[in-house]
Amino acid sequence: MEYIKKRIRDIQDFPTKGILFKDLTTAFKDPRALHIIGWDLGQLYRDKGVTKVVGIESRGFVGGSILAFELGAGFVPCRKPGKLPADVITQTYEKEYGTDTIEIHKDAITEDDIVVIHDDVLATGGTMAAAYELIKSMNPKKIYVNFIIELTALGGRDRLPKDAEITSLISY
Ligand code: AMP
Repeated sequence: MEYIKKRIRDIQDFPTKGILFKDLTTAFKDPRALHIIGWDLGQLYRDKGVTKVVGIESRGFVGGSILAFELGAGFVPCRKPGKLPADVITQTYEKEYGTDTIEIHKDAITEDDIVVIHDDVLATGGTMAAAYELIKSMNPKKIYVNFIIELTALGGRDRLPKDAEITSLISY
């Protein structure tokens, strides 16, 4: 984990003043770090029968895809408005900086699915809470929630449902 931590870059005041941005691009561009992240994410869910990994746009697409690949599961994008071509369901929410809306294809998840929702960073939890609501409304068998980084001081866990099973590789 130290290998990955050393490759996460801190950017002060991005995208707005007061935010300490955890930049994972410096870890993703390092072949060994990318491999370790994929493997370690996979270890968390190896025996859980996961059928779909939902990645949240856009930074959740990288970890979500490699996790899906590790598990032999499918990948489903949860995207910003107007990006998905077929029928969608939509959720609007507050985040650390501003408000946002996410969408998912109506036919992306079925009641037979066991789902991991993945994003790169848990900050205030608004994004994941919205994604969780979207996926829950599709009635899958089970929903897990996963991040590469959790910023514990921002209390994002408290914004997620009490019964949500949450894992993260690195906590600050
Ligand atoms: P939140 O809804 O506040 O939990 O914000 C999570 C989303 O915003 C994630 O998709 C992150 O990519 C991004 N994000 C928010 N705060 C940060 C931060 N301090 N460093 C890196 N990414 C962040």
